[in-house]
Amino acid sequence: MQSFMLKNPDIDILLEFLEESYANKFKRVKKTASVIFGVFLHDSFFQRMPGDLTLAIVLDYEANANLATVWCIAMGGVRMEANAQQAAERDFIIDVGKIAIDHNWKVEYGPEKMALKCPHCKAQYVYLAEEVKGSFADSTRCQNCGRLFHPE
Ligand SMILES: [Zn+2]
Repeated sequence: MQSFMLKNPDIDILLEFLEESYANKFKRVKKTASVIFGVFLHDSFFQRMPGDLTLAIVLDYEANANLATVWCIAMGGVRMEANAQQAAERDFIIDVGKIAIDHNWKVEYGPEKMALKCPHCKAQYVYLAEEVKGSFADSTRCQNCGRLFHPE
């Protein structure tokens, strides 16, 4: 599971993005004057191979603070690749991150996560800080271009 906060999002744009891109199986959005709560289910593909991976996304938006908290949980897909779930969750975070950059929303991943950029092709990744310090402290292979780079 991954989670992050979006400060000052345009909530209508965020909802539209989640509904159009991440709700091909299910969506439910409840709105009150001060809170919006959304659940979205998306059947997904991993690396252009058919799979049974499903993403569950939960949105909790507080209007007074203009603050959205988003949780993402990937289920299934384990027959295809051991880290398919983590990869799908990261792809989702990067996808939201692009929208956030476009609209100047502030994203907070929390202290335990780090955003990395491949110096060769500029692909972006979000890793747990302990992974960066641990198993691939020396180098990691970019999932986009296949070249090795050193996390910083
Ligand atoms: Zn790369």
